Amino acid sequence: MKAITFEGIRKIKIAEVPEPRIQDSRDVIIRVERGALCGSDMHVYNGRETGIDEGTVMGHEFTGTVMETGKEVSNFKQGDRVASPFTLNCGDCFYCKKGLSARCEKSRLFGWVENGIGLQGVHTKYVRVPFGDSTLVKLPDEISWETGVLMGDNFPTGYFCAEMAEIKPDQTYIVIGVIGCGPIGLMTIISTFLQGAENVFAVDLLQNRLKKAKQLGAIPINTNDKSWKEVVNEYTEGRGFDGVMEAVGSAATMKLAFDMVRPGGILASVGVQAYEQLPFNPPGLYDKNITMKFGRCPARSYMEKLIPLVQKEQLDLTTVITHTFSLEEGVEAYRLFDEQKDECIKVLLKP
Ligand SMILES: [Zn+2]
Ligand SMILES: [Zn+2]
Repeated sequence: MKAITFEGIRKIKIAEVPEPRIQDSRDVIIRVERGALCGSDMHVYNGRETGIDEGTVMGHEFTGTVMETGKEVSNFKQGDRVASPFTLNCGDCFYCKKGLSARCEKSRLFGWVENGIGLQGVHTKYVRVPFGDSTLVKLPDEISWETGVLMGDNFPTGYFCAEMAEIKPDQTYIVIGVIGCGPIGLMTIISTFLQGAENVFAVDLLQNRLKKAKQLGAIPINTNDKSWKEVVNEYTEGRGFDGVMEAVGSAATMKLAFDMVRPGGILASVGVQAYEQLPFNPPGLYDKNITMKFGRCPARSYMEKLIPLVQKEQLDLTTVITHTFSLEEGVEAYRLFDEQKDECIKVLLKP
């Protein structure tokens, strides 16, 4: 079958790889219906995260149809529509039981094989999912493949980020900022409103992303615009935001988040942190009394509550999707997404 494989920094190709087979009685084989490119795929693509073997199938975001199940699989049968988090979950360890599925003791990330050990990715036609019962989640017929592909990573991550910022729509906590309006930032904005926020500011440098954020109800702030500090000061009486959600993971955006949060506020970050040191120091933290929260979203734990929520609210999350490519066009899709050309925000792959 065809797959997008990693061949070195900024080098991927469409390769022929063997179709996956059941290897363990808890495995499920999925036919991929939609895949998606994610910012963290770009860390691999650009070599910001290293260690992955050449020839590894890329990708971790997908929805699909169950084709085959191992003997011990009881929650799924052939033909079921499913969504999947970006990591495996055993369902049985301390962290899975605690709802912190991102830290499952047996967790493995799709699309990460290192020294021959790991899990192949999903930018292909068929995927083997170990621990199928506790990893996969049924996708109701009312939720499209396209929305479903956002249910395994981007939407839960945005929702988790907003929850970490503890939005309390009261008089002491009213103004929040979301830094970075890529897919995760936009999902964070949607989530802040679902959680009761009223005054949400969207911070970015790219006009097309700010336009999208505005369509979702946020007030755009372009930090290329010299007057942005005055805008923040005007809305917050000079204090800064009560809560800031950082959805990029760069030193520059973390510094901006720190500068924008008011004393006593909360800084929540879900950007994959691919740099060595925080761009602010302990005295700075002491002087601001801020609370900081970081981390990978426990997507599997969140999917159980968010799939019914998306259904109930009839949320259309696909507003973030700007491009769809076939698997064969994968090299071009990666390049376009990486260079953020053509006002690209989120790219889907149709195998
Ligand atoms: Zn992702
Ligand atoms: Zn576990």
